[in-house]
Amino acid sequence: MAQAVEQALEEKRHLIVEAGTGTGKTLAYLLPVIRSGKRVIISTGTKNLQEQLFYKDVPFLEQALGASSASRLSVCYMKGRNNYLCRKKLYDLTDQPVLSGLDEIEQYRAIAAWEKTTSTGDRAELAELPEASLLWHKLDARADACIGQKCSQFDRCFITEMRRKAMESDIIIVNHHLFFADLAIKLLSDGAADAGVLPDASAVIFDEAHEIESVAGNYFGISVGNLRVEDLARDVENFLQHNRVLTPALSGSVGSLRDRSRFFFSLLPQGDGRFAFEARSEFLEENGDEFIAFNQSLTRLAGELEAMPQKPEEVFGFVRRAQEIEAQLNFVMESQDRNTVFWIERRGRPLPQPRADDSERSSPASGRQNVFLQATPIDVGPILRQHLWSQLDCAVLTSATLAVGGGFEYIQKRLGIEHARESLVPSHFDYAAQALLYVPPDLPDPRMPQFAVKAAERIRRLLEITRGRAFVLFTSYAQMNEVYRRLLSEVEFPLLRQGDAPKSALLEEFRLTPNAVLFATSSFWQGVDVQGEQLSCVIIDRLPFAVPSDPVVAARVKAIDAEGGNAFLQYQVPAAVITLKQGFGRLIRSLHDRGLLVLLDNRILKKQYGRVFLESLPNYRRTTEMAAVEQFFGLGT
Ligand code: SF4
Repeated sequence: MAQAVEQALEEKRHLIVEAGTGTGKTLAYLLPVIRSGKRVIISTGTKNLQEQLFYKDVPFLEQALGASSASRLSVCYMKGRNNYLCRKKLYDLTDQPVLSGLDEIEQYRAIAAWEKTTSTGDRAELAELPEASLLWHKLDARADACIGQKCSQFDRCFITEMRRKAMESDIIIVNHHLFFADLAIKLLSDGAADAGVLPDASAVIFDEAHEIESVAGNYFGISVGNLRVEDLARDVENFLQHNRVLTPALSGSVGSLRDRSRFFFSLLPQGDGRFAFEARSEFLEENGDEFIAFNQSLTRLAGELEAMPQKPEEVFGFVRRAQEIEAQLNFVMESQDRNTVFWIERRGRPLPQPRADDSERSSPASGRQNVFLQATPIDVGPILRQHLWSQLDCAVLTSATLAVGGGFEYIQKRLGIEHARESLVPSHFDYAAQALLYVPPDLPDPRMPQFAVKAAERIRRLLEITRGRAFVLFTSYAQMNEVYRRLLSEVEFPLLRQGDAPKSALLEEFRLTPNAVLFATSSFWQGVDVQGEQLSCVIIDRLPFAVPSDPVVAARVKAIDAEGGNAFLQYQVPAAVITLKQGFGRLIRSLHDRGLLVLLDNRILKKQYGRVFLESLPNYRRTTEMAAVEQFFGLGT
């Protein structure tokens, strides 16, 4: 792999490489990157991997290569802007604190004291700050409220510092969210000089590249939510009040924006979670007046702010934000773009029923439901081809799970990457000896109602054999909860369940609790690493097909079928293959790991498409017999 990456860097070619778990793929791409002397961006799927690269792998290689301190590479590690403090916001708040509750006052004191000493402004240094701190949300350095070079703190700004460091660095370690957010901002600003934080680089290495499609889809899409409008109204009001320039007319405009926005969002079709917004024209026919009124309230606020005499620089930022929301709102409600799916997402508790004179005001802190109007590209391939692959000398896409049935056609098609070299580096784990894959042939189809009862019985028996020490991974919360409830009083081992504690706390408890069993859903299928006997079994309830009713999945399926393709075989099966490989990949993490994999969904044996899954998995020893499982754990005859 190292040779392939070196060649790709030298010859300015793109490369796709699947490297199985344990091949040392980070070292295999870092070594040629370090030797190349070129500026390279490395984008990873998770913060954990970013940290591993920055704190462990790069220093290790530098030492191994005998780099003297003079020849040491300059490496920087960047996170998304919302991880950093905006000094300006903090100082503005210091002049006139608008804080709610004792918790916020304490958090404010901690942040204000820390700001004086930190050299990075990275919130990770503030261990005591709660993950979901609303105060941090008001103080972070997100781009939308930033006034850039016109800011009085620009020279001392943590983002300016981060950008400067990146400019001087040979290796820049980011994650996919930051990379694609940055690319999207640059595209929107038509290449303006201070847009984005990442400098140009000779090459980009995408680790965990199987996640690119979903992350890029989010950032090339548009999202307009009630929270964003509330944030704008709050920021404008606080700022104008603080500067004693809040006139009755401006106050009226802010109030009207809040009311119109709340009323408009409350009219949107009801539904749970994510669902398609297909009847946009009908909705506009019925609620056109409210849509226009919402639009006008944005135009009015922007107009009045613009008309302010001798306005401070921040006001231009507010005008820009109002205009941006208006333009994006019009796009999500009226665009007929054929490569975009329009949908709605609801999070939190339901909005109150609409009233024509709705003047109730509340903030997101009050637990109000967040509603997002979303527009997502159906096919990100053409966008990536035009704005990323064709602009880069060299892109390396790597992951332990990129190939389907031994080839890369699926990932190439989904990401629009052409003429890339390909390489498949097998793991040096002895999967046939280290892992046994058991598929019970007698369980009902997982889509049948009796499946949960039978699956729970089988899991109970399997856990007896493995003495717990298992992950039981589900494709839905409902299934996880049902099986968990059934087994709670039946299993003698400690049961942990996703949602009962934060992910990191659950993982820590799992590692420390002898014979523990963890019940979890999608977020534990990847990026989780438990080595040793503590994890000796991974049970998966069913083949992880994406939910077909999900608006983005449904639109992609429809588009492939409409072009004469077969979406099931070209999209749904390959995507599920990659997810299954990820899920099973939790078990064998080192040469010494050994354990049992269970797939309770025997469609993998009975359906024709099952072959694609079996051909794509490592060569685990396979069985359909419980006796073989017992034997594997030294039980039975
Ligand atoms: S430049 Fe932007 S992010 Fe930095 S302190 Fe000023 S407003 Fe905040």
